[in-house]
Amino acid sequence: MSYDGILLGAGHNALVLQAYLGKAGLRTLSLERNAAPGGGLVTTEDPRHPGFRHNTHSFFHRAITQMPWYRELQLERRGARYLEPELNVALVQRDGNVLEWWTDFEKTAASFARFSPKDARALRRWRDDFVPVLERIVGPESRRPPLPAAQRRALLEKSREGRLLLETSALSPEAFVLREFEHPLIQAGLLFFNGLREVDLRCEGFGHHIPILLAASGKAQMCIGGSGQLAQALLEAVGETGGEVRCRSAPRRILVENGKAIGVETHEGERILARHFIASSLNPQQTFLELMDPGDVPADWRGKAARFTYNLLAPLFGLYLSLSERPMYQAEENFPQLSKALMVILGLERYGQFPEIVQAHEKGEIPAPVMWGSTPTVFDPSQAPPGRHTAFMWEKLPYRLRGDAQNWDGAKDAHGSDMLAAWRRYAPNLGDAVLDRFSRSALDTERNLPNMREGDLLVGAFTHGQVGDDRPFPGAGQYRGHVKGLYLCGSSSHPGGNVTGLPGYNCAQVLYADLGLAGDWAP
Ligand SMILES: Cc1cc2nc3c(=O)[nH]c(=O)nc-3n(C[C@H](O)[C@H](O)[C@H](O)COP(=O)(O)OP(=O)(O)OC[C@H]3O[C@@H](n4cnc5c(N)ncnc54)[C@H](O)[C@@H]3O)c2cc1C
Repeated sequence: MSYDGILLGAGHNALVLQAYLGKAGLRTLSLERNAAPGGGLVTTEDPRHPGFRHNTHSFFHRAITQMPWYRELQLERRGARYLEPELNVALVQRDGNVLEWWTDFEKTAASFARFSPKDARALRRWRDDFVPVLERIVGPESRRPPLPAAQRRALLEKSREGRLLLETSALSPEAFVLREFEHPLIQAGLLFFNGLREVDLRCEGFGHHIPILLAASGKAQMCIGGSGQLAQALLEAVGETGGEVRCRSAPRRILVENGKAIGVETHEGERILARHFIASSLNPQQTFLELMDPGDVPADWRGKAARFTYNLLAPLFGLYLSLSERPMYQAEENFPQLSKALMVILGLERYGQFPEIVQAHEKGEIPAPVMWGSTPTVFDPSQAPPGRHTAFMWEKLPYRLRGDAQNWDGAKDAHGSDMLAAWRRYAPNLGDAVLDRFSRSALDTERNLPNMREGDLLVGAFTHGQVGDDRPFPGAGQYRGHVKGLYLCGSSSHPGGNVTGLPGYNCAQVLYADLGLAGDWAP
């Protein structure tokens, strides 16, 4: 059996790439180990309570409708629909006070001003200064293969926006926040968002992440019908041009002949040949160490793949509830708009909690609860039976609990109970409203999606040596492997993880160029 190309894994990045290749008339096959494609785009039904649908991986999809592939692949025509609730994020304090992020900048600034007029001014200044940086540099940069670091720096030094980006990125996110903002809750809130993108707040070179956050017009969005609906729309785009996705089928070996990747052998022993390419959306250890014969990979590539690291702070613990009524927060008494907040953050009171959370992760201990989540059914009743609700909370917890990830299997249910107790302190009605609940640990994530090694949902740390042209490692930053015909298209490549589709989109540009395909969509 032979195809023009074979993709390994069928998460959203691989599906985006596959859809673009189909547009060019290529015949492709994706091999996916799970029973369903989509990877981190999944919506599952509570088996004990039919009709309650839960998004057990990604839920908050940032600015998806602004992504070029979302428009070009006509995903709305194929059933994807997004909401961007106006009260996008609410940080709820124990005393009932609420810090708010709105899609309307003026409302966010007013909320900041209630805590600190000086911080509201800083917010406005950095937003104004960084909108052009985002529009002219950072946004376009994420949508194309990265420039080599030296060339990038030389270019940035030529413009005012570029120099501002270099100056702010010289700081760590923590140093930037402490220098520019004074209120401990605002400091904590900003660093929390930085943490959601899994950037180590202590790491110099990443200070620009904070003003980018302040300048971004695209906020968190949710997919109507659940995140799995985006996977369905992508699948339809793939299928329309004849692309095939084979589930419950995993590659055992990438076949190399005369210095070219020519196909794969599956676990069932089938050999499938590819005329032009193999594109792996898996992590570097899987691609270069597990799936390739040692003799087919040079020693320095093997070494670099082995040293690819994962985020200490990325692993998530999730608690998912099927409910008779939505969580009603005590703070709604003074902030009725809280009932319509997309993301609610609980337990974050002060900047000083961050070092404690980092220390707990380093020691494999559970820190005091800081959690965030949503009640999807407030916006999209289709995710539960009529009049009923689903809600979830996530917490960053260490992968190696007390030194060993396997400890999660014994500790999971008890921790879910602790989380529910902490949540009830803000929303007491949860005591009676819970019809069913289940928890998922970072070990469960890794079992389900082994590319998310150590439960790292971004599939690789954002540290020096693993960003831009150096992601996943120097020499592999242009989506090309070391042999002809081998490509990388997953979150271990630029610009990294989360549901952005951009690693797949950028890899499509490289493949179009290498195969001489005509496409008017590439930037
Ligand atoms: C609990 C949780 C919450 C999250 N929340 C958010 C969020 O709110 N917003 C957001 O933007 N992101 C979120 N993420 C992160 C997001 O889901 C990922 O960054 C994203 O899915 C990565 O996309 P991908 O296509 O690169 O990889 P994936 O989505 O992981 O897809 C990779 C595919 O490869 C398959 N695969 C793995 N190994 C093999 C193999 N050996 N052979 C064949 N197939 C294989 C997997 O089964 C999977 O289908 C969350 C993740 C988790 C786990």
